[in-house]
Amino acid sequence: STNSLDIFHEMKSLGKGSYGKVWKAQHRIDERFYAIKCTLSDCVHLEAKVMSSLLHDHLVRYYNSWLGPKPDKDAVISSSNASSCDGIFFQKNHSAESQQSSWDDSEDESEPSEKNSLERATNALYIQMEYCDGGTLRNAIDEGLSRNMERVRRLFSELVNGLAYLHSKGIVHRDLNPKNIFLHKGVIKIGDLGMATYHDEEMVHSEEENCSFFGTKLYLAPESSRRKSSRNMKLDIYSLGIIKFEMCWQRDGDVATESERACVLKNLRQSAICFPPNFDPSLFEHNLIKSCLNHDPTQRPTVEDLRQRTLQYKRFIDEPDHLTDTKP
Ligand code: ATP
Ligand code: MG
Ligand code: MG
Repeated sequence: STNSLDIFHEMKSLGKGSYGKVWKAQHRIDERFYAIKCTLSDCVHLEAKVMSSLLHDHLVRYYNSWLGPKPDKDAVISSSNASSCDGIFFQKNHSAESQQSSWDDSEDESEPSEKNSLERATNALYIQMEYCDGGTLRNAIDEGLSRNMERVRRLFSELVNGLAYLHSKGIVHRDLNPKNIFLHKGVIKIGDLGMATYHDEEMVHSEEENCSFFGTKLYLAPESSRRKSSRNMKLDIYSLGIIKFEMCWQRDGDVATESERACVLKNLRQSAICFPPNFDPSLFEHNLIKSCLNHDPTQRPTVEDLRQRTLQYKRFIDEPDHLTDTKP
């Protein structure tokens, strides 16, 4: 059998999320690098459909998607071996025995049958997308982004522009956090649309969803943690507020420990919105963050409001390094 992975050179694991795995791969014909995400196809989500409808400088670009077999289990085991993650191949002969789930070993324990092996031949969804070379916003924050407020403001403005485009298409991201925001050639690319859905005016839905979308809790709006799902754009605005805070927060020490960070964010998430004592209340961003973190979603600004407000500090914003030479 053929599969679309044959068109790529051997892969390097970029990491494993809660819903799948991502590899970096070089296309044999165009010789470019792509990120290829593989998730279970039975948890039907909108990721490929949503991504295919979008094209924007500050969103990870979509190229293609297809159904195929799950990656070889042994290859996956070796890929999680941090130091030796090169040379990952997807197996070419897909025997039923080896088609085990690679991210949840507890499933697929039924006897292999012809029907099973047929299903297993197409039970993973692959998405070919733009490869981002600069790590994530998480890395940038941990490396001291807040020491350069010009860069903070420029990156935040790109983030707001990307999100404004997404919202203008009627799409809610629902999993905005610094690990899902990438840097590529120095500019922001919003990625991981695995939780994305179409906007709904209703703030809270009473029905449960099949695939729960509760990802990184510290960034989730309070109304989404009531075990009910919401499809409102104001969810993203809340996450954006937390992200903006982290981008600006000058920590006393070099790096905040995971527990220190969680503690500070938990205080921020209270309805009283408690900023840490070392966060300058006169900072332009202070009120902007506060308005995004309002527990009443109707009181949060829209992304367009935010775009207008970021224009106020436009004069502080640098052009991205690679664009400065094309500036008129
Ligand atoms: P979760 O799915 O729970 O949010 P996650 O964000 O770690 O977890 P994924 O979004 O599936 O998981 O990504 C897995 C890894 O691949 C992450 O380390 C991520 O940084 C990396 N990655 C994902 N997409 C790209 C991309 N387009 N370019 C470069 N690296 C990527
Ligand atoms: Mg992710
Ligand atoms: Mg994800």
